[in-house]
Amino acid sequence: MPMPSIQPLGALENSNEFIARHIGITPADQAQMLAIVGANSQRELIDDIVPKSIARSSPMQIPAPVTEAAALRQLRAIAGKNQVFKSFIGQGYYGTFTPGVILRNILENPAWYTAYTPYQAEISQGRLEALLNFQTMVCDLTGMPIANASMLDEATAAAEAMTLAKRSVKSKSNVFLIAGDCHPQTIEVIQTRAKPLGITVKVSTAVATLPYLMAQGDYFGVLAQYPATTGSIHDLRPLAGQAHADGAALCVAADLLALTLLEPPGHWDADIVLGSSQRFGMPMGNGGPHAAFLACREEFKRSLPGRLVGVSIDSHGNPALRLALQTREQHIRREKATSNICTAQVLPAVIASMYALYHGPEGLKRIAERVATYTAIFVLGLKQLGYTISNTGAFDSVTVKTGEASKAIAERARLSGCNLRFRLKHHLGVSLDETTSRSDIELLWSFFALDGQSLPVVSAFEDGVETLIPKELRRSSAFLSHPVFNSHHSETAMLRYIRKLSDKDLALDRSMIPLGSCTMKLNATSEMLAVTWPAFANIHPFAPASQLRGYAELDQQLRDWLCEATGYAGISLQPNAGSQGEYAGLLVIRAWLEANGQAQRNICLIPSSAHGTNPASAQMAGMTVVVTACDKQGNVDMADLKAKCEAHSEKLACMMITYPSTHGVFETEVKQLCELVHSHGGRVYVDGANMNALIGLAAPGEFGGDVSHLNLHKTFCIPHGGGGPGVGPVCVVDDLVPYLPGHATAGLPGKSIGAISAAPLGNAAVLPISWMYCRMMGPDGLKQASEVAILSANYISVRLKDHYPTLYASSNGRVAHECILDLRPLKDSSGVTAEDVAKRLMDYGFHAPTLSFPVPGTLMIEPTESENLAEIDRFIEAMISIRQEIRKIENGAWPQDNNPLKYAPHTAASLLGEQWARPYSREIAAFPLAELKQTKYWPTVGRVDNVWGDRNLFCSCIPVANYA
Ligand SMILES: *Cc1c(COP(=O)(O)O)cnc(C)c1O
Repeated sequence: MPMPSIQPLGALENSNEFIARHIGITPADQAQMLAIVGANSQRELIDDIVPKSIARSSPMQIPAPVTEAAALRQLRAIAGKNQVFKSFIGQGYYGTFTPGVILRNILENPAWYTAYTPYQAEISQGRLEALLNFQTMVCDLTGMPIANASMLDEATAAAEAMTLAKRSVKSKSNVFLIAGDCHPQTIEVIQTRAKPLGITVKVSTAVATLPYLMAQGDYFGVLAQYPATTGSIHDLRPLAGQAHADGAALCVAADLLALTLLEPPGHWDADIVLGSSQRFGMPMGNGGPHAAFLACREEFKRSLPGRLVGVSIDSHGNPALRLALQTREQHIRREKATSNICTAQVLPAVIASMYALYHGPEGLKRIAERVATYTAIFVLGLKQLGYTISNTGAFDSVTVKTGEASKAIAERARLSGCNLRFRLKHHLGVSLDETTSRSDIELLWSFFALDGQSLPVVSAFEDGVETLIPKELRRSSAFLSHPVFNSHHSETAMLRYIRKLSDKDLALDRSMIPLGSCTMKLNATSEMLAVTWPAFANIHPFAPASQLRGYAELDQQLRDWLCEATGYAGISLQPNAGSQGEYAGLLVIRAWLEANGQAQRNICLIPSSAHGTNPASAQMAGMTVVVTACDKQGNVDMADLKAKCEAHSEKLACMMITYPSTHGVFETEVKQLCELVHSHGGRVYVDGANMNALIGLAAPGEFGGDVSHLNLHKTFCIPHGGGGPGVGPVCVVDDLVPYLPGHATAGLPGKSIGAISAAPLGNAAVLPISWMYCRMMGPDGLKQASEVAILSANYISVRLKDHYPTLYASSNGRVAHECILDLRPLKDSSGVTAEDVAKRLMDYGFHAPTLSFPVPGTLMIEPTESENLAEIDRFIEAMISIRQEIRKIENGAWPQDNNPLKYAPHTAASLLGEQWARPYSREIAAFPLAELKQTKYWPTVGRVDNVWGDRNLFCSCIPVANYA
């Protein structure tokens, strides 16, 4: 086990102070709650719940906690080991100015970053509108009819484009072609994805040589980049016709800023367009988080992966937004889903959309023209210095023939605090961006000038200079003409628009979000602060390692602590969501099997109660899913498991379980389960989404798990951001460590499964959040958090038992850190569904618990340790009050189809009309509890009609004329 490498601070700075800020329950509350759940002590309660057979063998070796101030001071020292250079590397990551109004009011604003994924549409209209703006922006700039609401990064978006093409085209080929001048990390991630799916990837030297590969006709899709990674702007138009003639699809990786000046791929018949929106206001952050985009032609839309926001109507017939076509997604389609993506990149997508709103079409064009003009000027100066560039055309990037001088020039740049793109043979790459100034250009020339050469000056070239964008590819079509992109250019207007949207939404800054399996806990401000520190934010992921020492230390320490917390031997922080951690973990198992001559093992056992990402990931890893049953208590049915293990013994690769189970129970036979799977030659994957019940109490790496992923955006305090970013580290036992993800593009070696994400450290810029959490909680605080989370869930289960029975519990009646309330009997007695209760909770100012997962017709509640007793009681009172309303329906006082539950949520507008012909009063509708008169949150739309929206699919901003 690696030992934590952090310097101990003096005892005076050790402190439990933060623990009491993070944990909402005081010792006095705790005593009261223990009495209600019928336990003599916290110890006794936990001993009652966590099976002795799996209890940790020893405490976690994580340093003792320090104060917020001391932790920040230490983190600053780590950040100080990064060197912030001016980046001219390009390769998918560019300097950008985050407008202050967006930085402060979105990126640093809990109303935006603590929101959950907008599954409950009525309380999410603000972020849904921002995402609709994002989709509209992508459609306009790419010229495509439909775009999704974000992907994890450009490279995974390209991999998803490949599989989207495979699903959608006529060609039966298994070959995917890539132009060699795509970003190397994109090619690397595609290769990782292609292998288990049996797709052969053929990479040409560049776009120019693609036609030779295409001439063989044996391919289902082809990817080229526009502009290419070298900076060249190829005319890709002929590729579209050829691909279509061959029954294949043309995928184009494009740059959003360049597209303001370039004829968009959608206008020359590309089928799929993808890329990154990073340079629209999100700092480079050592590689993430950034929102990627994916757009496709109309005919492909029902197989588009990822979340898609669409326009529908609410119960009053007004336009209302919600997530569209969810039947494509893993939570419904499971192993037949279009992708395993769940948590995506909502917050960065919101920021990119706001950047486009803030600048508008003219502003974006101005920025792009300045970049393109500086590039042209830079090239003129280089020519004067005697250099040639190998580009054909250029927007912001050039590849300079430097031959033997490469090293010396790059070194000179480094001495001036600048990075050029240096991992090229006999060439150097230079990329400009929004932040480039005239003095930067002159500085750049100085690196290339030989001794004694006189330096060019910008002013000599300024007059009448033309960009290097090929004439035939210049954009003639308008974009972003919708009023939303043309109305918020003053800062006042922008500030108020941002505020207007966040006011429509219910996030953790207003009330508890008791979503089972999602662990919506405190995202402490001191944990968030470092995300925008320049020493973490303004770092290019492919800068030389010598400049990334701070990140390396952060990575090392966090991995050491997470190893301690999970009992595993090795961890990679590269996967940028839980789903990606699952996928990476299954590839690790596959690679190990192959290395041990067991490649025939491809069966993955998954209990019926599993999260949808599990079967979807198994499918992507090329495994065959076999579903195992659950018994009446919700536990894995051991007899069925045994039978399936025996039946598939020869081909068993692994079993995926979630522990404690998604049914909210600590199954007592988990050790035997692991032994059983091992005895048949399979490995055990423990989905770590429920680690909030385990940290400090039990470690999957000790009780039989071989691989797990964590969700740092659940258990380790990274906020959900309205549906991302996330971090999904993959953790493995000793013999699997050599197979963890690598990253050849970044020069990271290893006998690995390849790269999972575009950047070696994935969503690196949010890692300081989890580091701060561990540093301020220490081993005892982290353990206490698990214990209190369990106490609070049991407290809710007991307090609500006479109103809503808990569906699954251990034999002693206890639950884990979440509990499932069974609402199915209410359907018969009153016609009320779990969805009605979820919507009625909005009238009470609450976000609903998890609806109908893992059991249809139920609500799963997870209070987390961060909620205080008053808030938990407020939620319980709301639930009881709703139960009393249901009794009125049961008694016949209100009809089954005309009551406050069926009409929930109630908007202010719907209550203030002239007519009111309901059997319940307006007051009951809006203020069912007296305190709501002071604290009312008003949903802005009535219940949203999902079916209408899917039948009339519309996924970009509504033309103003249609609003009337
Ligand atoms: C949240 C969750 C996942 C998926 O994690 P993402 O980060 O959303 O991809 C997987 N399994 C379980 C049980 C989860 O709760």
